[in-house]
Amino acid sequence: MTRPTPAERLEAIVEQGLCIGCGVCRSIAGSDTVAVTLTETGYQQPVVIGELDHSTVDTIYDVCPGVRVDGPTGAAAGRGATIDPVWGPWRRIVRSWAADPDVRYEGSTGGVLTALGQYVLRTGLVDVVLHTRPSVDDPTGGEPTLSSTEADVFRSGGSRYGPAAPLRDIAEVLDLGRPFAVIAKPCDIAALANLARHDERVDELVRYRLTMVCGGIGPPAFTDGFLERIGIDRHDLTAFRYRGRGCPGPTRAETAVRVEERHYLDFWGDDESMWSLPWRCKICPDGIGELADIAAADTWPGGSPTRDGSETDPGTNAVIARTTAGLELLEAAARDGALTIECDIGPDDMSVYQPHQVRKKHAVAPRLAGIADMGRITPRFTGLRLDELAATSPPDVNERQRAGTRDRIRIGKATEPTPRARPNSPS
Ligand SMILES: Cc1cc2nc3c(=O)[nH]c(=O)nc-3n(C[C@H](O)[C@H](O)[C@H](O)COP(=O)(O)OP(=O)(O)OC[C@H]3O[C@@H](n4cnc5c(N)ncnc54)[C@H](O)[C@@H]3O)c2cc1C
Ligand code: SF4
Ligand code: SF4
Repeated sequence: MTRPTPAERLEAIVEQGLCIGCGVCRSIAGSDTVAVTLTETGYQQPVVIGELDHSTVDTIYDVCPGVRVDGPTGAAAGRGATIDPVWGPWRRIVRSWAADPDVRYEGSTGGVLTALGQYVLRTGLVDVVLHTRPSVDDPTGGEPTLSSTEADVFRSGGSRYGPAAPLRDIAEVLDLGRPFAVIAKPCDIAALANLARHDERVDELVRYRLTMVCGGIGPPAFTDGFLERIGIDRHDLTAFRYRGRGCPGPTRAETAVRVEERHYLDFWGDDESMWSLPWRCKICPDGIGELADIAAADTWPGGSPTRDGSETDPGTNAVIARTTAGLELLEAAARDGALTIECDIGPDDMSVYQPHQVRKKHAVAPRLAGIADMGRITPRFTGLRLDELAATSPPDVNERQRAGTRDRIRIGKATEPTPRARPNSPS
């Protein structure tokens, strides 16, 4: 058998459903070699556009969060943190919201991540915030943006469940040599932690890593299904909001001539069995942001809002301060009036709000075993207590997860086409 070419090795990450579109491989290979761009599937994926060599692909495999996530070591895992078997390291967990009512209203849940982004700029703790804003080319997705004012941070608040490539420009941001904060999904934060092993500027310049607890992005085809149900063609969209303006607030699609609003549950479905997720999200070892300083989540008991009363819910985040830096930031932001803290809570409350995260954390190890059974690229997920959690599940449950994974792979549910850029896609 001939050895795959460097391009084929990178494409294999996508083809085996492991790419989550963080964008970091573009920064490793160089923008003249790998573009991370909208592909024919509607995802943001790497497309090889130059001469890629094996050594660069080796580095990509070491940094790509699709295939490697190492749990926290050092400060986060160290002295002062309690390690919960499911929820990982934490120093304080609270119910909280942005003290500014406009930020709370516009934010995805209670606006905590936006308020923290604004606070670190206001107090000079960082020069800029790297996060995502609605994409100009695809309103259902996001694109990386550097905010240097509180107004910029505010404008880019809200959750975007579509592809966003938050780290596509990380090399350029590091080149600025300025201290910054990152607000991004747990897998993006894991990519950053992986990158830190290869680029010492990451630990020097990234002062705060802020994340959301994340159940997964919505596949583009799933979003298309929603748009079809409300009678809007994706190409006619001028703006799209998944949620925010209350909690969760409406899902809102705009064209030049129409505005349609639906309940959040009309997008996702009324229960977890209706959620559609990319393969990498189904085997996610860390949707809870163990590598971040602070992780912010929703607080709906059972993991989903109800249809009653959600129009009037102003939004409350559960906020996990994991590191010393995260704890100090949380408490300083509350002391200085950027955040309101309602009360302290604990990991058991998180499990009530996020039962899907608890289930997934237990299921990842047998799912990885199923991937290995099929001879596929088996992601290296370490330091996240996955084997220990699986050992607490009955053996037949684990075996079903493992066999189900093999079945999904056999019927093509864990396979993506070779990434090909859409015509005129930006890089
Ligand atoms: C894909 C996805 C899945 C989620 N799944 C869950 C879940 O299972 N359970 C749960 O409790 N909460 C989940 N959330 C988080 C929840 O929607 C809120 O984002 C979180 O509670 C923080 O709310 P906030 O009001 O503080 O955020 P805001 O103040 O509105 O700030 C959100 C920040 O996130 C950034 N951002 C938005 N979309 C993306 C993206 N796609 N990639 C990277 N950065 C982005 C924005 O730029 C902004 O800075 C998910 C969010 C996303 C984006
Ligand atoms: S997950 Fe990130 S690093 Fe890995 S292939 Fe996808 S875009 Fe590249
Ligand atoms: S579920 Fe995991 S892999 Fe999927 S978007 Fe969220 S953090 Fe990333």
